[in-house]
Amino acid sequence: MIEFQQITKRYDQRKEPFFALNQVSLSIPDGSITGILGQSGAGKSTLLRLINGLVRPTSGKVLIDGQEIQQLKDAQLRPIRHQMSMIFQHFNLFATKTVYQNIAIALQAVGVPKDQHQKRITKVLNEVGLPHKIDSYPSQLSGGEKQRVGIARALITEPKYLLCDEITSALDPKSAKEILELLRRIHQERKLTIVFITHQIEAVMALCQEVILMEEGAVIHRSSTLDLFLHI
Ligand code: ADP
Ligand code: ADP
Repeated sequence: MIEFQQITKRYDQRKEPFFALNQVSLSIPDGSITGILGQSGAGKSTLLRLINGLVRPTSGKVLIDGQEIQQLKDAQLRPIRHQMSMIFQHFNLFATKTVYQNIAIALQAVGVPKDQHQKRITKVLNEVGLPHKIDSYPSQLSGGEKQRVGIARALITEPKYLLCDEITSALDPKSAKEILELLRRIHQERKLTIVFITHQIEAVMALCQEVILMEEGAVIHRSSTLDLFLHI
């Protein structure tokens, strides 16, 4: 489970005091698909990066499975980070590496021996529907295909938490819909926890069970996705 207790994040680079997040408390239960919905600047990316320790809070606590992560040294944080994978808006693939090599990097990062790579990469590419693209370069793939590679790279380490950062925002509507369907199927099959940040309400409606609405660094609403209609 992911828990935020009174989280405040101030970015020091600014001249005036500025809070990207202000006293945010929330919890995300294991096995859920939670959408974090809000306009640009609402604090969604900051929130996502607090979960995997890329951003540290100015005050408050982030707990992952009951462990207060800001207390941990890098070496202690590593096994927790290995349970998390992130998927990005602009895919973040290496242009000079093939699909195989892009995914292999994630396996290397968690120390999986090389002799296991081919089998695992082939399997995960089947899962996302791209086995025939194993030797392609990103420039030879459509946006939707690139995002499937991003998802494959995220899944290959068998994470408990999948952190999705505007993953449909750079895609055309048809590809976006396919990616959401894929994620939904992966969630059913793998039973992982998905945190899905976006400014697209239709993406939340299509995918998420629960929604957290953010505005100017604060949570302004939380409900089931169905009940969001009653609020807006
Ligand atoms: P969102 O993902 O909802 O667009 P962000 O978490 O990216 O929101 O940003 C929230 C606010 O914090 C924005 O006003 C943004 O400009 C500011 N911000 C984000 N990262 C930094 C940073 N590293 N330094 C200074 N300000 C930042
Ligand atoms: P290296 O780790 O030797 O620098 P690369 O990063 O270029 O190698 O690629 C990682 C490994 O995966 C290499 O041994 C390469 O031959 C192998 N490889 C790349 N594509 C495939 C593939 N489609 N099937 C099997 N092995 C592959």
